[in-house]
Amino acid sequence: MIDVLIIGGGIGGLALAQGLRRHGIAVTVYERDRHRDERVDRYRLAINPAGSRSLRACLPDRHWQAFTDTAGRPGGGFGFLGTDLRTLVLVEDAVMYPADPDPAGRAYPVDRQTLRGVLLDGLDDAVHYDKAFERYELTADGRPTAHFTDGTSASGDVLVGADGINSRVRAQYLPAATQRDAGAVGVGLKLPLNDDTRAWLPARLAEGMNLVLTGAPHFLFTSVFERQEPTGDDYLLCAFVARNDLFASRPERLDGQRLKAYVAELITDWHPALRQMVDECPPHEVSAFPFQASDRPAPWAPSRVTVLGDAVHGMPPAGGNGANTALRDAALLTRQLSLADGGHLPLLDAIGDYETEMREYGFHAVELAMRTLRQGLTSNPVTVGLTRGWFSLCGIAAPLRRMTFGASWAEISAPRRWERSA
Ligand SMILES: Cc1cc2nc3c(=O)[nH]c(=O)nc-3n(C[C@H](O)[C@H](O)[C@H](O)COP(=O)(O)OP(=O)(O)OC[C@H]3O[C@@H](n4cnc5c(N)ncnc54)[C@H](O)[C@@H]3O)c2cc1C
Repeated sequence: MIDVLIIGGGIGGLALAQGLRRHGIAVTVYERDRHRDERVDRYRLAINPAGSRSLRACLPDRHWQAFTDTAGRPGGGFGFLGTDLRTLVLVEDAVMYPADPDPAGRAYPVDRQTLRGVLLDGLDDAVHYDKAFERYELTADGRPTAHFTDGTSASGDVLVGADGINSRVRAQYLPAATQRDAGAVGVGLKLPLNDDTRAWLPARLAEGMNLVLTGAPHFLFTSVFERQEPTGDDYLLCAFVARNDLFASRPERLDGQRLKAYVAELITDWHPALRQMVDECPPHEVSAFPFQASDRPAPWAPSRVTVLGDAVHGMPPAGGNGANTALRDAALLTRQLSLADGGHLPLLDAIGDYETEMREYGFHAVELAMRTLRQGLTSNPVTVGLTRGWFSLCGIAAPLRRMTFGASWAEISAPRRWERSA
């Protein structure tokens, strides 16, 4: 039986661990967090149909049920608004993701912390905390040993780097695979959705997802997270995204109050409700994320070391595809390793096929995220004018809406060949 070591217990690493366990493959996850509750994952994630299918493939039935039970209420569409809150176009859910009778083919808003709980469920014996990976070594027959900063080590048949955008596994394994500053910073804010805030929040902002287009090198994304059963912790996630030079250097070091002040200064001429929204977000729920993007590396020869998720194809969250792509990696790698484990494929062929396919959809997602980010940040008056004019036309004509928005959402999450045959 194959014995798999996973470095990093984030979304991709944990989904892979669940998937491998489901196929009876031995797996251990090494996570640098000191304990399970060290991290508070504050925001919500948009899981698209590719992410849902991947979760369905990796998770045992009980976990999948927990995922759908704890997901937020879907719906509300995607609005493109002006800073005066005028709706240029409202893209209906059915345009973004055509209705699918199979729950695994749908999109779900999820709370990150809740998803993490689902992914960790049943893995207590497999996840080792306070294990910061330092480096690996390969034996003469190519088997990996991972070394940790506490001086301990672990050996297995396959080592998977699922250790996020600043991956140490990738740095050692693929030193030519670099990542770059994507040129923008995101400030995440969270407004509680309760009777008080709903009383003044304009109706459109209290629904679905929205993008406030500004014509300046910044924009605002909003997304509602409402639980299916009322628990009193519904919220509106806001992400203010700006070109780097509009912010202080190292914004991730600023506290919530200072970050809010930066944002407030850039939106003084926006609709008062948008300003109030930023103003009323509690400072302890505000943080900054400098965006990074991985460069596409030249193909490499497969070995018993591989990588998944942000560790290899990190991307800015414009378009919300990073976690979905990490989940897709987890599902595909599960499939490939179980084929090898069952003797249907040589191990290195299984890993090589995974990497070939992963590079294709993974770096396509990076390019799409960069394109979306650039479009959002453009301040070229001609482009801005044309975009607004086109969006307004789309707002009136449903066929234009389907043509313009349907294709881009559907394309990234459409099943790949191996997913259709699964
Ligand atoms: C504000 C924001 C909003 C986003 N929204 C969306 C969205 O709506 N939809 C979407 O699809 N994506 C979204 N993303 C992107 C998504 O969060 C990432 O793409 C996703 O978390 C990547 O998963 P991963 O498992 O590859 O890495 P991570 O989730 O980053 O996990 C990496 C893990 O490795 C651990 N680790 C790191 N180094 C070491 C080490 N040396 N040793 C041991 N462990 C280590 C880390 O502690 C972490 O647990 C968003 C990102 C941001 C910042």
